[in-house]
Amino acid sequence: MQTQNQQNIKMNNLKMVLEIIKEYQNTDISRADIAKMTHMSATSISRIVDTLISCGLVKEDAAINSDKVGRKGTRLKATADGLITAGVSIDSDNVSLCVMNFSDEIIASKTVLLESRHYDPDEIVEMIDSMFTLLCAEIPYTRQQIRAIGISCIGNVDYRKGDIYFAPQFGWSHVDFGKKAGDVLKKPIYMENDLKAAAISVVRQEKGYKQADITYLSIGMGVGSAVILKGKIARGSNNAFGEVGHVIVQPGGRKCDCGQRGCVQTTLTRNSLIEECRDAGYDITQVEQIFDLYRTGTEWMVEFINKTASDLAMLIRNLVYMYNTNYILVGGALIVDFPELLDLARDKLADLIHSNLYSDLKIIQIKTRNNSMTGAAFIAQRNSIDEIITNAG
Ligand SMILES: [Zn+2]
Repeated sequence: MQTQNQQNIKMNNLKMVLEIIKEYQNTDISRADIAKMTHMSATSISRIVDTLISCGLVKEDAAINSDKVGRKGTRLKATADGLITAGVSIDSDNVSLCVMNFSDEIIASKTVLLESRHYDPDEIVEMIDSMFTLLCAEIPYTRQQIRAIGISCIGNVDYRKGDIYFAPQFGWSHVDFGKKAGDVLKKPIYMENDLKAAAISVVRQEKGYKQADITYLSIGMGVGSAVILKGKIARGSNNAFGEVGHVIVQPGGRKCDCGQRGCVQTTLTRNSLIEECRDAGYDITQVEQIFDLYRTGTEWMVEFINKTASDLAMLIRNLVYMYNTNYILVGGALIVDFPELLDLARDKLADLIHSNLYSDLKIIQIKTRNNSMTGAAFIAQRNSIDEIITNAG
């Protein structure tokens, strides 16, 4: 019988080799290449690859010249249909769902807009279930073939138990959402906070971020961040690490629903921009009006957006001093729709951050939407891999 330790080594080796094969998905990679990369014996790698093939996660592709002396090798690829997962994101104004294959491609997705009212958790579970049924009718896979579902949600989420401690936008407190969803959807459910899921997705899709220290900052309906240090997500004691919505950037500023004044949530969200303009006596009802007025050079709006950009720059400055990650990735609907805001904030940062930190800083705009949904599908994929590999061992 194998000891626990040997078993762990075996699992880790399987995961490592699978990761390499997925990473080199679009280039030729053979057993011999992996042996070279990992400094493991050809026999060990062959055994590991055979196990991955028998699990259906990897397949042999065309023959390739795998080394300089021209010996033939067989190209290895992750099996696109080998593991299908779904990802859900629950945001304050919409619920989105996607299905992802093992080549990390989104096969199909759906979004339902939410009304501005409190929803019962069971209502949202039912909504996800109907969306899932509709989506399954559109894809080349059966509902049966989808192995697991990741669900990301705004608020404080216990990713181990699958509970949502609180999601104030919905008025939820201590909801066993993962269990409810599992009972209705009849699939393994993996829950995560929306920004941690988004950060996982963004980092996953760019090789250069794999071993980097990264803060992902999202600006949209709310403001939040997540931090990944050399591939590992920072969680804190209650999985609330990075919840920066109530960092104060304007002492004495507008009243926040947390009871304080001048939190970033009162100045950097889609709704707060509209409210600030209305407070100043301007007839603004849509955030798009703000973008248009800025882009056409309307004086008061240029001034207002400059002030907002200063708040964003101050927030980024605080994040640099709190987390000290040299990558700051800035995304979220507001930045995707209105990248000028980040450009202006970037220009203000040189004066706010000490030169030794500033010279190392890479502030990057993230242009993809729905990162929380994609991240949830990745989380379901990663947990499913663990399960498949454990069963294979
Ligand atoms: Zn606040």
